[in-house]
Amino acid sequence: MSKKRILVISGPSGVGKTTLCDHLIRKEHTVKPCVTATSRSPRPGEKHGKDYFFLTKKEFKDGIKRGKFVEFTTLFGNYYGTPVESLRAVFDEGKYPLLKIDVKGARNLKNKGYKGVYIFILPPDEETLKHRLIQRKSKESKEEIKKRLSRAKREMTYRKDYDFEVVNDKIPRAVRQIQDITREHLC
Ligand code: 5GP
Repeated sequence: MSKKRILVISGPSGVGKTTLCDHLIRKEHTVKPCVTATSRSPRPGEKHGKDYFFLTKKEFKDGIKRGKFVEFTTLFGNYYGTPVESLRAVFDEGKYPLLKIDVKGARNLKNKGYKGVYIFILPPDEETLKHRLIQRKSKESKEEIKKRLSRAKREMTYRKDYDFEVVNDKIPRAVRQIQDITREHLC
């Protein structure tokens, strides 16, 4: 696959990446989400093939062996990865893939020579992030939330790897900023 331009959005768990990306794709028709894969269980409302490709750990490991992922990582005891096919499908439509992936995945793609725009989303402050993680409508345990919060703090140290930072204080403002960056630097 020739290395075309991609839009990467990362940021700590609970920072609001999904909401921002959902708004962005409604406004920017040149950008299309690249559906990634995970071995974690679906959260309520999540759909296979839309939010993720939900695979078993065995399916994931087989996929790794067969070179089916452009990049992959393990997070919270589960696999997450970008299928080669998902990326190709978006390029084939003539669009820019939007990848909502973690900091290690982003670093791997950069190291592999994937050009484009890499954006890091920041919370307005730590308290807001904690609050959002607790509020999240999911079955995650307190222990899980604690793990995600400590991981979030570690993830913040990767922000220097990115081309741009956007603070998610007000959703419309943050979306507009991502849109402006995209139009100026990606398309
Ligand atoms: P969640 O379990 O909350 O959906 O996602 C946890 C983390 O995994 C998020 O930071 C998300 O961006 C990241 N993630 C999702 N898909 C991929 C992927 O394909 N590769 C990598 N490296 N990270 C991913």
